[in-house]
Amino acid sequence: MIIAIDGPAASGKSTTAQGVATRLGITYLDTGAMYRSITLGLMDHGISLRDLSSIEEFLNTVKIEFGDSNSGSKIYLNGRDITDKIRSTAVTEKVSVVSAIGVIRESMVQIQRKIGGNTDCVLEGRDIGTVVFPDADFKFFLVADVEVRARRRLKDLDELGEEQTIEEMIADIRCRDELDSTRDHSPLVKAEGAIEIDTGKLTIDGQIEKIVNIINQ
Ligand code: C5P
Repeated sequence: MIIAIDGPAASGKSTTAQGVATRLGITYLDTGAMYRSITLGLMDHGISLRDLSSIEEFLNTVKIEFGDSNSGSKIYLNGRDITDKIRSTAVTEKVSVVSAIGVIRESMVQIQRKIGGNTDCVLEGRDIGTVVFPDADFKFFLVADVEVRARRRLKDLDELGEEQTIEEMIADIRCRDELDSTRDHSPLVKAEGAIEIDTGKLTIDGQIEKIVNIINQ
């Protein structure tokens, strides 16, 4: 079973997808974290986004792994725990440009299809219901008012010890949504047949409950 949860930045996908996966006892895959990891890796290696051959070389050697610890789910890049680093403003500012690069998308989609092909999975991202698994059993598209989304991200950022004003955060989110929706490769669009859920009007438990009920029906 494949459950696709897509939507714009900070629309509540991660918390909802994680909760749904836990309730159903199946795998959860945060595909945004994969693009963030690649962004961090390219930054750390000083690889220019114009240097496609170095990007391809990097993609051939890089290993992204997911794991669990007492403090929640973790993500590792070539064995290094990068869970917090990928949420930094520096990575967030670059990720939409990185994720628009075709070879990077092809490589990530290949990994996502392999994981989803081997196990029942809730995948969250931007192109899961349109490109990665267009035949997914269930497709959801989460939305919320931009101010609601900005307040959520500010809270996440605060936990990392970083600060931004609400105005800056709204501008960042709008910019990322614009880049993600207008790129040539797999732009962010609502998949045909996807059920739209406004998470600004629901509690986290309410969002999870709504999706689980639809799946169980
Ligand atoms: O979901 P999150 O905000 O962590 O995603 C970070 C970025 O990764 C998005 O803004 C988008 O550019 C990219 N992304 C993507 N396709 C996905 C998931 C994320 O292009 N399936």
